[in-house]
Amino acid sequence: MSRIAYVNGRFQRHDLAAVHIEDRGFQFADAIYEVWAVRKGELLDAEGHFDRLDRSLNELRIAHPVTRAALTILIRELIRRNRISDGLVYLQISRGRARRDHGFPPPGTRPTLVLTTKRLDLDAVARRAEQGVSVISVPDQRWARCDIKTVNLLPNTLAKQAARDAGAYEAWQVDADGFVTEGTSSNAWILTADGALVTRPADHAILHGITRATLIRAATAAGYRLEERPFTIAEALEAREAFLTSATNFVMPVTRIDGRPVANGEPGSVSAELRQAYLAAV
Ligand code: PLP
Repeated sequence: MSRIAYVNGRFQRHDLAAVHIEDRGFQFADAIYEVWAVRKGELLDAEGHFDRLDRSLNELRIAHPVTRAALTILIRELIRRNRISDGLVYLQISRGRARRDHGFPPPGTRPTLVLTTKRLDLDAVARRAEQGVSVISVPDQRWARCDIKTVNLLPNTLAKQAARDAGAYEAWQVDADGFVTEGTSSNAWILTADGALVTRPADHAILHGITRATLIRAATAAGYRLEERPFTIAEALEAREAFLTSATNFVMPVTRIDGRPVANGEPGSVSAELRQAYLAAV
């Protein structure tokens, strides 16, 4: 079965699907994206991701190419055509195709809409969560609006590759004041020795993770004390537990930072409990 992508009104073979060289996503990273996890054929946390998509478009004044209802139908059809049970849906919307010029293209320029899917082995993700993952710390080299989910991901790709080169799973980016902002494609959390869950506030320095928001609701409903404040790598190394969250990792224990163990270097019970709480919530 060949994979199918959706590009500007057409379902087509993934290996032949393309956008134009003058697309503003290609020329300027003038595009936003969104990712939904799919479990048993269903989108997880669907409305949260649709809401963030709307926000990203509004912040950058990119027109909505289709309504949410139409987009939902397109996504469901793509999941069906690709026979995705467990996986993800990737969406990208750029400001469209126009003669290269830094300023916005003429009004009426049609945004580019691309949808693809990918299979994921959620059992393998669960096994990874039982082991825990390593992270490294790197300087945060990104711009001042990391809350907008743009495809402008070069610092993230460099940091992720630095993690891979170091044999780690993720890189935690650290701001000029020494505080962790977030991972390259995940949000960062710790559980302090006195039992508080700490994660950076949803300011302009981080992407407002949908998993993060759902977990905040689930964890506070389960009675955890939440502190939305920045923390340092030193504090994370002193923490009882550390973990990361994202749409496709759910809650993933972090057991080593820069080669040093967090607590005893084993995944903690609270991370496991929160992972279950998240999965029960979506
Ligand atoms: N932070 C960054 C930079 C990301 O790219 C992502 C997801 O890709 C996240 C955090 C986690 O967001 P979500 O939970 O919505 O997947």
